[in-house]
Amino acid sequence: MNNKVSLIDIILFRLYYISMVVEDSTRVKDYLTKTKLETLDYVINPYVGCPNKCLYCYAAYMSSFSKHAEEWGEFIDVKRTSKKINLYKIKNKKVMISTVTDPYNSYEEKYGVTRMLLEQLVNSEANINIVTKSKLITRDIDLFKQMKSVEVVLSICLTDEDLKSKLEPCSSSIAERIETLKMLKANGIKTVVFISPIIPMFTDYRQIIEMTKEYTDEYWFDRLNLRSSFKTKMFNFIKQEYPLLKNLYSDIYEKKNLNFFDIIFKKIHTYCEKNQIVYKSFYAGT
Ligand code: SF4
Repeated sequence: MNNKVSLIDIILFRLYYISMVVEDSTRVKDYLTKTKLETLDYVINPYVGCPNKCLYCYAAYMSSFSKHAEEWGEFIDVKRTSKKINLYKIKNKKVMISTVTDPYNSYEEKYGVTRMLLEQLVNSEANINIVTKSKLITRDIDLFKQMKSVEVVLSICLTDEDLKSKLEPCSSSIAERIETLKMLKANGIKTVVFISPIIPMFTDYRQIIEMTKEYTDEYWFDRLNLRSSFKTKMFNFIKQEYPLLKNLYSDIYEKKNLNFFDIIFKKIHTYCEKNQIVYKSFYAGT
């Protein structure tokens, strides 16, 4: 039996999922949010909710801060305020767009909130990271070229498109993300590949580096964390599709044995040092 997912399957799958998302808007006081996240000062999330529906989504806990009864991934609120971003406040600060949504999710094409915010940020003196899984980011290359300090961060944790379509059903394909990196690089934009989350037995960091190194200035790494509803989703997925991995996942996420990640991150460190790869690890270790 041929298990390959065709392009038409992927398109139908995305259309089906996108049509299930409830759209709304929400008033906010400010697009800027001060954060306690290490290495950052402010975050900007132009939307509440994320229609990318990654099975492992760590941001699902945000559902409880919304007015929606729908599950995470099934609603999107467009953030609205007339308040402009205070450029003085973020001078020389680290600002990330975004942490709990994809700023280039499929609704950005329609609402353009991310683009509107970038237009405000064009003359800022902040250090800006923009994190996405979408090729739509190339739409804003004209703005990135005018910005003083911007890094575009493409999140890639898989190399197999079939597996990607199961775990990250609504984001750009791996091939499209690599094309995106290529285009950004050709336009002189600093690029980062965020190999995150590292999913046990699925993420091949060496292969990702091999596939992207010509167009990437820096790599970031983080591990898969599993909590609340998405832990159940990932466990069900493993149980149904990869039953042989059940014990490993149970060891890591139920018995809290982080040996697997300790070993992987040591290897990443050695590999990057040996190959003179500029990298940052967000794994704190055991
Ligand atoms: S892109 Fe990020 S925020 Fe959106 S569903 Fe995937 S993991 Fe969650």
